[in-house]
Amino acid sequence: MTDGSQTKLQALAELLRAHAGSTAVLTGAGISVDSGIPDFRTPGQGLWTRMDPMELSVEALRGQPERFFQRCLEVFAPALNARPNRGHQVLAALERMGFVFGLITQNIDGLHQAAGSQNVVEVHGNLRNASCMDCHRTYPLEELLHQLREKQLSRPQCSDCGGILRPDVTLFGDAMPPDFGRGQEMVASCSLLLVVGSSLEVSPVNSLPALAPQVAVVNLDATPWDRTARLYVRGNASELLSSLLEMLGGS
Ligand code: NAD
Ligand code: ZN
Repeated sequence: MTDGSQTKLQALAELLRAHAGSTAVLTGAGISVDSGIPDFRTPGQGLWTRMDPMELSVEALRGQPERFFQRCLEVFAPALNARPNRGHQVLAALERMGFVFGLITQNIDGLHQAAGSQNVVEVHGNLRNASCMDCHRTYPLEELLHQLREKQLSRPQCSDCGGILRPDVTLFGDAMPPDFGRGQEMVASCSLLLVVGSSLEVSPVNSLPALAPQVAVVNLDATPWDRTARLYVRGNASELLSSLLEMLGGS
């Protein structure tokens, strides 16, 4: 870590002390990269450099379900087998220690909860459930996976009505889930929003920082919020958060 990052982390530790109990966290795909899940936008590695985002849209699901589900299996596979990394663990520790009161995530991988975070709002859905597009019955995601993998069905079906089962993740073209409103409330009630591992390019989540009185950003690459933020630190989230936790007296 550079001396510059060290100084900025010290300043971030001070900021967290000053906002202990009223800090909310917003995470994106970058926090889970060290768990082996590629993000979307990192040049050369991100998912969008290898496929067209519209292949995971509602339009694709309705128009070409076979291709859509094939893509789902490829795209979701790393997240289904992943384990939390040090970054997820540190954020859970910051909640336990009383610095952070809640966490909003764009990720669908469930790794914050797996690491022990309690107050988590998932604004893009999750990989735990699937639901019928017609009668809206909910199933565990395993049912959808079982039909695709073991039964070799090209489009998973609802056993009640025969409708198509879809994963409960927010696709391009979907309305935002009700949890987005909870996320907005969480940000509106914090005094500091700590953003970790998000490009802040995805709408409408990128509107959330504007609701926070102060913003701090920890991310590998530059984000549109760096200039406005109270402070930003560039680098690997797991490494930076580990050092931050030490500075705050945790382990
Ligand atoms: P993004 O791909 O737009 O941005 C990720 C950011 O993380 C980039 O700016 C990159 O610089 C940074 N980053 C990469 N590795 C990092 C690391 N080790 N430490 C710190 N920062 C790192 O991701 P986004 O802003 O979350 O938006 C993309 C959308 O993709 C989200 O809606 C999310 O739902 C979805 N997504 C989720 C997962 C997941 O569940 N793990 C994975 C990929 C995409
Ligand atoms: Zn049904």
